[in-house]
Amino acid sequence: MNAEIIAVGSELLLGQIVNSNARFLSLHLAELGINVFYHTVVGDNPIRLTTAIEIAESRSDLIIFTGGLGPTKDDLTKETIAKHIGTELASDQKALLSIEEYFKKTNREMTENNRKQALVLKDSLVLPNDHGMAPGMVVRSSEHIYMLLPGPPKEMEPMYLVYGQKALARLTETNEIIVSRVLRFFGIGEATLETVIEDLIDAQSNPTIAPLAADGEVTLRLTARHSNQDIALKLLDETEAQIQSRVGEYLYGYNNSSLIQELVKGLKDKKLTISAAESLTGGKFQQEFTSIPGTSALLKGGVVCYTNEVKQKLLNVKTETIESYGVVSSECARELAENVALLTNSDIGISFTGVAGPDELEGKPAGTVYIGISIKGKGTFAEKLTLGGTREAIRTRSVKYGCYYLIKQLKESQNL
Ligand code: ATP
Repeated sequence: MNAEIIAVGSELLLGQIVNSNARFLSLHLAELGINVFYHTVVGDNPIRLTTAIEIAESRSDLIIFTGGLGPTKDDLTKETIAKHIGTELASDQKALLSIEEYFKKTNREMTENNRKQALVLKDSLVLPNDHGMAPGMVVRSSEHIYMLLPGPPKEMEPMYLVYGQKALARLTETNEIIVSRVLRFFGIGEATLETVIEDLIDAQSNPTIAPLAADGEVTLRLTARHSNQDIALKLLDETEAQIQSRVGEYLYGYNNSSLIQELVKGLKDKKLTISAAESLTGGKFQQEFTSIPGTSALLKGGVVCYTNEVKQKLLNVKTETIESYGVVSSECARELAENVALLTNSDIGISFTGVAGPDELEGKPAGTVYIGISIKGKGTFAEKLTLGGTREAIRTRSVKYGCYYLIKQLKESQNL
């Protein structure tokens, strides 16, 4: 089965909003083994929408619409589809009740045009809207499946996940159970990762393997389908084991986890405290760390040591170190990490010093970053990074690398 997503809305064409609905749906349709070959965007215009539907019908089996299900005059998606496929709209009692409830709950006057939202295509499967008013629907003709979803992502996404996906699985095939697992990697580029597991990706069918790179991280979404859930999970385990045997050292977490979350978990498990000395990251590491609840027992505190004066006065970096090696150096990073841990009596000290750019510093180009790590009873070391990208990307990536090195230390050091 191949699919096309038609996003309806003039605001998309005007560049006022980004078509994130198409992205979301494409990612999730892949889990069902449905190929999305086309994304179309069309304004709130029935003639142009009809043309878009005709084109989609000529090349796609499944056509998913988002947007234009609301109460206003420019919301024309279902009317246009009804006319095109030669069916009628009828009021759905359940949807109408739920719209009335919604108004009662929010203490608002229900205007007449809101009844329009309860109109659904005759003989369609109605998808309830648990987060808004306009219901979605699925209707099947002899050659095509049409799915209509609301425009707002906060309504569309849960509707698809809770009701739409199941309806599609049922319509497209069997009663197979679909299970997914996202493997999260850091420290390895997308191209390298894909090359290393190219044969597995080429041979994929069940589970499917879908790589995605974003924000300096790479993820692989494994999706298996089987009528028996245990077997589907076993299929995931087997593929994961194959991937791990090749790139397991870069795997840091699963599903919606993040580097900072994994670090917090690792420190919690080992009951270790940490402190940070941050120059180019300006407190970003501590900001991320404290964004996770319950971290006060782990993070003792830290210093934003942006100037040489603060590095020297508050964190006791030696004048000779700065004169001989500069602040963007392994030597300075090590002293910062060691001293911040000593001053705060923490088990671990981490430091970030480097050039965020755009200008160079001490003759070192933007993206030169040193991360110091000092671990009680284990010693102090520093890692050098050569990062590309904007100032913000360099700072963000520095924090991610800091977390990654620490997670690796926690994993590798049994006696910590
Ligand atoms: P409503 O009842 O809110 O009118 P609707 O189904 O009619 O819902 P639209 O009016 O087309 O949807 O869009 C409502 C809002 O949803 C838009 O202003 C926009 O913020 C968001 N939206 C619509 N389409 C998309 C899309 N393709 N990607 C991301 N957001 C979208």
